[in-house]
Amino acid sequence: MKIIRVALATSDLHSLLHKSIYLSSNKDLSLKAFLLSKKQLQDGSFGKPIASKSFSGPCVAEMKNDVLTIGSDINDIFSFPRSVLQNTGTLLPVFLIKAESDKIFIGEHAASSKLYSGELMIIANDKKIRPILYCPLELYVQSVLHGEMPADYHIEAIKCQAVCARNYGLYPRVDHSSDSCDVCDSYQCCQCFAGLSEEANSSYKVASQATSGEVLVYKNEPVLALFSSCGGGHTENYEDCFSDWKTNQFPPTPIPYLRGVSEDIANKQIKQVIDEKDLKILWNMTKPPTADAWGRQFRWSISLSNRELESQIHNNVMSLLNQKDVTPFVVSPSSGVFGEILSLEVLKRGVGGTIITLKISTSKGDWKFTKELVIRNLFQMPNIQLTRLKSAKFYFDQIRDKHDQLIKLNIYGLGWGHGVGLQQVGAEGFARLGKNYTQILAHYYTETSIAKI
Ligand SMILES: [Zn+2]
Repeated sequence: MKIIRVALATSDLHSLLHKSIYLSSNKDLSLKAFLLSKKQLQDGSFGKPIASKSFSGPCVAEMKNDVLTIGSDINDIFSFPRSVLQNTGTLLPVFLIKAESDKIFIGEHAASSKLYSGELMIIANDKKIRPILYCPLELYVQSVLHGEMPADYHIEAIKCQAVCARNYGLYPRVDHSSDSCDVCDSYQCCQCFAGLSEEANSSYKVASQATSGEVLVYKNEPVLALFSSCGGGHTENYEDCFSDWKTNQFPPTPIPYLRGVSEDIANKQIKQVIDEKDLKILWNMTKPPTADAWGRQFRWSISLSNRELESQIHNNVMSLLNQKDVTPFVVSPSSGVFGEILSLEVLKRGVGGTIITLKISTSKGDWKFTKELVIRNLFQMPNIQLTRLKSAKFYFDQIRDKHDQLIKLNIYGLGWGHGVGLQQVGAEGFARLGKNYTQILAHYYTETSIAKI
């Protein structure tokens, strides 16, 4: 049985190291304690434990006085004996915890704990602890489905997501080997792994079992199954939205199966390449002929006063410039100053209409912003709880006063997310129209097919 090692991040998703972890189960929790080398951790060759113990109640694992400790109450605690820890060199104290029922609740607190299945490894890491769940592949898939797709979606749409989840778990984009795991549970880094649904026969379980062991391949190689929430009627080419994972080069080498495709359901009413005029038509249609038009994510709008823009955007620009991997995508004028905003102009769009480069002319010169996530983050407005724009597939009206000063920016957007690969809302739309998961996956990932691992 293939196991995926999933690091559990803190609730703010900022770190894989915790102060403490709460554990509970409806049956006993059994604990084995080890001292392991990095290589043993990597190989999973744990050998004989130095101690074993079982707990009948909820436990808290933490570093107490610099020693890895677990306990259910003050009278029932296990710590590595200091005599054992002396002269251990580079060996790391590790706990392996298994619930007798194989159902274990894990969280920072009792209230935030989630249901998981598998063995939990806790590694002492300086003054903190690193929890890693050893999760069987199909349970990993079900836990990602729980995090990524509503349970009441059509089963064929959930099966699409199941295949994508399996692809990522087996062939992750991010190299987590230095964290002693394969993937993490954060959607900001890997994909959202939310634990198991407590419903015994959830649609997640049905979708994982129905597609068990299936992965998506292109020319016999497993694909990078990127996905997002809603394409807004048309998806994008990979190279128009992402930079190279390793080198940060933009545009990166195109990926042949991640091509922009129309989500048209009415015989090619939506063009293969969408320009600004098409975006306006699509946004204003009462019933757009696309698979995703049913979703609330399909279209959005926002109105920003010049005051809101002026008070926030220059801060956002400075913060983008402070992020090393973003700096290459922000081109400043020779003054280096973000002046008063005069006008905005789209310089380049992708095949689905997503903005690739946006120019903002200011009183201190022209600024250029490239890549969809950079452009979305540019419009972060904390005072109206806007962390970023839902997508970079938008057009705008610049409202001016009689002196031609910009007083308001109305932004009209389509879709939610980067728009590359499978679109969850569109997949649901196609499933409702009778398409099965292999047809939907073949639509979103060009020239791919399903293979068994
Ligand atoms: Zn990750």
